[in-house]
Order: sequence, then structure tokens, then C-alpha cells
Amino acid sequence: MWVFLNGNILREEEARISPLDRGFTFGDGVYEVIPSYNNKPFLFDEHLERLKDSLNKLFIPLPGVLDELDTILYELHKKNKHKNQSFYIQITRGTQDIRSHDAEKDIVPTIFITSQSLQINPYRNSPGRIGLRVRLEEDIRWARCDIKTTGLTGNILSAHDPSKKSCDEIIFYKDGIINEGSKSNVFILLDQKILTPSLDQKILPGVTRRFIIESLRDTDLEVKEVPISLDMFHRSEEIWLTSSTKELQPVHFVDNIELPKKRSQNYIWPKILNYFDY
Ligand code: PMP
Repeated sequence: MWVFLNGNILREEEARISPLDRGFTFGDGVYEVIPSYNNKPFLFDEHLERLKDSLNKLFIPLPGVLDELDTILYELHKKNKHKNQSFYIQITRGTQDIRSHDAEKDIVPTIFITSQSLQINPYRNSPGRIGLRVRLEEDIRWARCDIKTTGLTGNILSAHDPSKKSCDEIIFYKDGIINEGSKSNVFILLDQKILTPSLDQKILPGVTRRFIIESLRDTDLEVKEVPISLDMFHRSEEIWLTSSTKELQPVHFVDNIELPKKRSQNYIWPKILNYFDY
């Protein structure tokens, strides 16, 4: 695989990052995942905006190389050859001489980009396939999940618990209110209204979430950003998960119970998938 590291495109096995990089010692960095179809990044400006936002929130100076990010992704896409790719962009506060909570004054951010083959959302071609299996769990993550940091222990912990059965996604709730998935945002259809948790809950401002909300603005399918209780969640007519690599996918099992209870011939979610036009 060809990767980008601090200004150069090189082979993955030649890429070297110091173990004293704060990404390694503190998880002190942010990331972004951008899908790209036929060498055309999807919602590039929105991803770049969120990346800059995450950096600003962590007081990491914006690396100048971000001005050329589109060209770098174009080059990487060509070199890695897959038709559709997902780019992983990680920026840390940088490397310092000794491990210390305090960062050195002139520390320079590390920027690292990889790309891998991206599988097209299987629900596009087979909307009839069985939906995802998820489980509900209390949200144990920190209070700033609006920042896309690489410190994801809270997101991945339960997925590695050998006492738990594996599933497609874990959906976090706090005080009985749904927040988001461990790697996706959540939408439900309840009483024929599309609902999604508000960003006031300090969840990740998903680029796909925003795309759906904006695409449906001023249509009959307008999305309401409201608190979703566990009770509302269990009564929903449809449950969707969204992310940049999944687009939108339906859920059919929650904690091994078939949900939504009623199967419909007229699901709304396949109509929303048609908005993903790239
Ligand atoms: N929430 C979390 C916790 C995530 O990790 C992701 C995936 N990055 C999302 C939501 C979806 O965000 P996006 O649509 O920008 O991929």
C-alpha cells in the first residue's frame, strides 16, 4: 500500500513514525475517513471542514499541507489502484524528545494518510437482505464525542469483551437517551417521522448524518433532531445507521430481538439511499 507521511508518498513499509509521537503515547490526535468513488472523494469539503474543526478543538495548528489534501488523495487513489477507496487521515500533535503531558513549544503535527479498498454498501444492490444486528449499551465514553479523536477505547472496548456475542454495531445510550453507534449515527422512523439525536448531546457530527438531514430539508421526509428515548427506539418503525463507509444501512435485530416489529413493503430507507449520488 502507498501511504502519505509528512509530505511524502511512500510505501507503507518505508513509513516511520517515532514511538514518542503523541499519537502513540497519549492518543493525542484526530482522524477523518473519506470515501472515494472512481477517484472522486465524496463530500470532501464537509470532511475537510470537520477535520479542521477537530484540530481546532484540540488546539493543534492546522498543517499547511491540508490545502493540498485533494491533490494528495488523488495521487494516492491512482497509486493504490482500487476503484473505490476509503482514505484514513490521521493528524497528531507531533513527536517530542521526552514523554511529558506538556507538548514542546515548537512541536510539528504528524500527518499520515492511508487508503484501502472500499466495499460498496451491500444494501444498494440488495435492499431485501437481512438488516444489521446491534446491541444497546450504556455510553461510557468521555463527554466530548463531538471531536473525532483517535482515542477510541470507549468505542471499541465492549466489542473486544469475550463474554459478549459479536454483532454489527453497538448503540450507546446515556440516562435512557440514545446517543449514537460506536462507529455510526442513528436515525429512527417513528409515527412516520424521521428522528435523529441532536448534536447538543455531544455526539459526532457525522458527515453522512448531515448529508441526509440537508438532502431531506424542505421535503415531506424532513428530519427532526430530538432526544430519542429507549422506549421510542423500541417502538420505531425503522432504524438506520449511517456512516461514510456504510452510507445508510437498516437494523433488524436489537439485542437479539427482531426490531422493528412490523416488516413493511414500503420502507423509507431505500428512498434515502437514492440521494447518495456520486
Ligand atoms: N459516530 C461515530 C462514533 C463514528 O465513529 C462515525 C464514523 N466515523 C460516525 C458517527 C459517522 O460519521 P460519518 O458519517 O462522518 O462517517
